[in-house]
Amino acid sequence: MQYHVRSILALALLSSGCAGGIGEVSGSGKEGTAGVNPFKGASFFLNPEYTANVEATAAKHPDEAVRIRKVATYPTGVWLSDIKSVANLQGWLDEAKKQQDASGKPTVTVVVVYNLPERDCSAESSAGELSVEQNGEQRYRSEFIDPIVAQFKAHPSQPIAVVLEPDSLGNMATNMAIPKCQKAKAVYRNGIVYAIKSFHLPNVSVYLDAGHSGWLGWDDNRTKVAKVFKNVLSEAGGPQMIRGFATNTSNYTHLSNRDGAVLEPSNPCPNELTYVQTMIKTLEMYGFKDHHFIVDTSRNGKGGIRAKWGSWCNVHGAGLGERPRADPVPGVDAYFWVKPPGESDGSSDAAGPRFDPMCGGADAAKNAPQAGEWFESYFVDLVRNAKPPL
Ligand code: BGC
Repeated sequence: MQYHVRSILALALLSSGCAGGIGEVSGSGKEGTAGVNPFKGASFFLNPEYTANVEATAAKHPDEAVRIRKVATYPTGVWLSDIKSVANLQGWLDEAKKQQDASGKPTVTVVVVYNLPERDCSAESSAGELSVEQNGEQRYRSEFIDPIVAQFKAHPSQPIAVVLEPDSLGNMATNMAIPKCQKAKAVYRNGIVYAIKSFHLPNVSVYLDAGHSGWLGWDDNRTKVAKVFKNVLSEAGGPQMIRGFATNTSNYTHLSNRDGAVLEPSNPCPNELTYVQTMIKTLEMYGFKDHHFIVDTSRNGKGGIRAKWGSWCNVHGAGLGERPRADPVPGVDAYFWVKPPGESDGSSDAAGPRFDPMCGGADAAKNAPQAGEWFESYFVDLVRNAKPPL
């Protein structure tokens, strides 16, 4: 990932399922799954690969092992961030099915779909494998989305929540001055339209990524992104094709404190819940009448950790946030650990590949591995700083 210090700087310059039980998951008829909160009444998939990382870390820290092991009792998102990773999906969904059969409750798996051509167009650390020049649009459809759909269809009794393409449409709204984002415009739009149509299945609920308050909270940015959402959804079949939106994915913005008011006084959304509530009103003006949010609370427990709101990479001092749960506040389907806590946001090695200066910046933890890799010391700090405590 990603994001947006540039858009913030620019602004600063300018202005200063489970309904179906254990049988087939049924949606709400002609609306697909748009009318059902898939998290409500459900268990959540625990990923054994994530649990193994937690366990290995606990074994190395005997004094804190009890607390560290508690993390393994919470679910995390599974990320499909390249074509190769799609091969893991069957195993994850098969395992989720076992957990569902064992618990007797629908077990929801949160799948992050993250592989658009020219991915991460405004940053470096999560640049992807597909490009416009090398037939990326077609490959995204046939080698990435289609096999994902096949797996979703092969697991019809399980609720699946998709977080669709973090940062992509936010970049379309605010970062079009960046050549890579300009180049990505058509392919982002076409790719997301294709994905939304393809994921319109009874057991799948789609949450389109909607950035976070420190990026899209300003009035003009909210309006811009709502227009982009409207355009994309009209092409995809209408607003009811998605359940709603995901915010704070892999970010650190606190749910309810006033950090944002200190860091960016011109932003009317000083925290993530204010953003969600304000965004709901903005979206209503663009035809999104009954949409719901999930908020990534993996690493936003502790406030006051950033000198700049735009800092997004392995922010030093962060702690685990609210535990994943359904229906925490009106308008929000779930708090969820979409980013698996402990996985890096990007390498801090200035000499290595995919280095983004943000990952070597003052707010970022040092000695960080590549995006997605296990960052043990950082994970231990997240546990120590957890709020609420573990
Ligand atoms: C990386 C992915 C990784 C995900 C979850 C993203 O920033 O690009 O490879 O799976 O984070 O850690």
